[in-house]
Amino acid sequence: MPETDAPRHAHVLIIGSGPAGYTAAVYAARAMLRPVLIQGGQPGGQLTITTDVENWIGDTTVQGPDLMLRMEAHAREMGTEIVSDIVTALDLSRRPFTAVCDSGARYTADAVILATGAQARWLGIASEGLFQGFGVSACATCDGFFFRGKEVVVVGGGNTAVEEALFLTNFASKVTLVHRRDSLRAERILQDRLFRNPKIELAWNAEVDEILGTDSPRGVTGVRLRSTTDGGLRVLPADGVFIAIGHVPASELVRGQLPLREGGYVEVEPGSTRTAIRGVFAAGDLTDDVYRQAVTSAGMGCMAALDAERFLAAVAPDAIAAAE
Ligand code: NAP
Repeated sequence: MPETDAPRHAHVLIIGSGPAGYTAAVYAARAMLRPVLIQGGQPGGQLTITTDVENWIGDTTVQGPDLMLRMEAHAREMGTEIVSDIVTALDLSRRPFTAVCDSGARYTADAVILATGAQARWLGIASEGLFQGFGVSACATCDGFFFRGKEVVVVGGGNTAVEEALFLTNFASKVTLVHRRDSLRAERILQDRLFRNPKIELAWNAEVDEILGTDSPRGVTGVRLRSTTDGGLRVLPADGVFIAIGHVPASELVRGQLPLREGGYVEVEPGSTRTAIRGVFAAGDLTDDVYRQAVTSAGMGCMAALDAERFLAAVAPDAIAAAE
């Protein structure tokens, strides 16, 4: 749609296509709100870059990309209009809210559900991308199970890295935590648990220079570490590498419009998905720096749709009646 065309109006505009966005869409559609969902640059979100998912309840094993295609089909079947586009600008200062997309299409909306998710922060080295899903992961809860009896490396020094290292000792025979400094950022209680665990070794003052592996079958065989003190290189054998150097929530669209917590996460009222602007809701990894699971994101997507429905019933009952 060229930018000169009149904007399309949606009662509920959902931005993002991970478990939070699609679940919000299913609930909003079943509330007869005819939601419009803009998928964003990575339709299906973070689960599309994983392989086996074994903690999506009801499926012992499901491929991440397949699960997301099923969620998309479900949302569409229930009556969601799913748009393959990227929201590039969002104006929450006036009602109806306005969104402009990469294609030039514009939307106005009475309520907006933000579900743009977060991306794991990656090291940014080429070998990391090459082995993603083949031994390199950013989620121990998702992938730890595949490393039973194997040796793994965790990179990072914050709470996430320490929690992931501890969690991985349930499966791995040895876990090496690689940190670029000589002290951890993680809370003391977690550090104590880490230091007490006989399966965990520390590689202090070290950065991952390269992830080493084989092409066929594609898999990780180790990491080359570079000392941050003298630049020296050494190879550490490993079957898996977990990158735990933080997450980056995709909150650029609302920066300066909504209060963000440290790290850029959208602030919501406790126990709800309501943001500081009435009619704007946030769900999933965009607002959650604690749980970060597909199933918790889906739960928050449900909450956002119910919150949006209640909001519209209070402020725009005519809109709901018209939608019905
Ligand atoms: P974080 O606290 O930002 O820690 C990131 C870690 O990764 C830091 O140790 C940092 O090193 C390291 N790092 C960053 N970039 C790196 C790079 N390019 N190469 C190597 N190392 C790099 O992130 P987080 O651990 O994911 O935690 C995020 C937030 O969630 C925090 O507020 C945390 O407290 C919270 N959280 C809480 C819990 C809990 O309460 N149980 C659990 C998980 C997370 P430096 O230390 O040298 O900067």
